[in-house]
Amino acid sequence: MAAHFDLLIRGGTCVLPWGMEQTSVGVRQGRIAALGAGADATAGQVIEAAGLHVLPGLIDPHVHLRDPGDKAVESIPTGTRAAVLGGITAVFDMPNTSPAITDAERLAWKQGYAETNAWCDMGLYVGGTRANIPELASLETGRGVCAIKVFAGSSTGDLMIEDDESLERVMRAGRRPIAYHSEDEYRLQARKPMFKSGDPYSRHMEWRDEEAAFLGTRRLMALARKTGRPAHILHVSTAEELDYLKDYRDIATVEVLVNHLTQMAPDVYDRLKGYGVMNPPIRGQRHYEASWAAVRDGTVDTIGSDHAPHSRAAKERPWPEVAAGLTGVQTLVPVMLDHVNAGRLSLARMVDLMCAGPARVYGVVGKGRLAAGYDADFTLVDMRRTRRIEESWIASPCGWTPFAGMQVTGWPVATIVRGQVVMREDEVLGGPAGRLVAFR
Ligand SMILES: [Zn+2]
Repeated sequence: MAAHFDLLIRGGTCVLPWGMEQTSVGVRQGRIAALGAGADATAGQVIEAAGLHVLPGLIDPHVHLRDPGDKAVESIPTGTRAAVLGGITAVFDMPNTSPAITDAERLAWKQGYAETNAWCDMGLYVGGTRANIPELASLETGRGVCAIKVFAGSSTGDLMIEDDESLERVMRAGRRPIAYHSEDEYRLQARKPMFKSGDPYSRHMEWRDEEAAFLGTRRLMALARKTGRPAHILHVSTAEELDYLKDYRDIATVEVLVNHLTQMAPDVYDRLKGYGVMNPPIRGQRHYEASWAAVRDGTVDTIGSDHAPHSRAAKERPWPEVAAGLTGVQTLVPVMLDHVNAGRLSLARMVDLMCAGPARVYGVVGKGRLAAGYDADFTLVDMRRTRRIEESWIASPCGWTPFAGMQVTGWPVATIVRGQVVMREDEVLGGPAGRLVAFR
């Protein structure tokens, strides 16, 4: 008897954990029920995917959806809508909102809010502070919590923990990997008087120099080894750190941002001014090349967008008053697919970085690979479609992207979350049915 499914994705080139195969995928009750569904299979809904690549749902493990915050800039409903338009099926959202997510009460609020307002699935970071160290071990096992996030230097007010003694106490509270923003705050503060308001935007990478990032990472690695607590170093941006972290594979995993793989100083500051300013900064060619080398040799575990929108007014202030952070959740997949088409990495490696990588680092349950029993999350892409990234396409209310005008080849044409088609050809479908991601 022919098998019957809720959804059948027929004839696409599937990126399976063991290689690419042209096959059909059957979905029942939000999960992958069959790989290689027969030609006689029937389904409530059929997507003809011949000529398309069927990827496991792509994850952006580093976004700032600013909610609660300024809805005119971004929010969970708008940011997750941007995510599904860009081919992302799950985002992991940072805690430095206003107020910040640092205790059980605010976490409970966000869990409920996300589950009624998100268009894709969500993981939630909880911020580590000096005050909440005693609660971190319990907070990190909360529903939907992907990790504790520690800003070890980045001037984010209460959320910053810059001294070794407090960092060690955080590492001794709990067991799951901690995600770090690694720049040495003391060095940043010491160097600030070397510069003045109105200096060129490229001063950003001179102020927040290579040594600020490398020193931060050396300090964290010493403490991670001492305490045995796994560390995920977010947005690694220097050749020095990428080389150094190869000797810490027992305790550390590595994120690189799409921005550091795509943009380069001085061009990014000449062309984009404040719209090129982020932390850690976009640097010169040596670091760009080291980042690609680290993607190719396996040093890098995950790729994120660090989607961090600000109003145009905040991005047009003089340096250093300009707000640091760039929009990116919607453009991550198109830009990465263009890198695949340019031969900088394989499609299989992109899937490793955006599915298996986040699943491995954060301990995601039931996502990150096309396999029977896993969540039916898919990103369908047309590797031959060429399109220009336009600001009119951006769903985040801030309305801008640092990739405006970039012509890319490779485009997400459908986003499917647990068997529900939530985006097809630029159209968002259904309602905000996102759930919290489960973690080990
Ligand atoms: Zn960030």
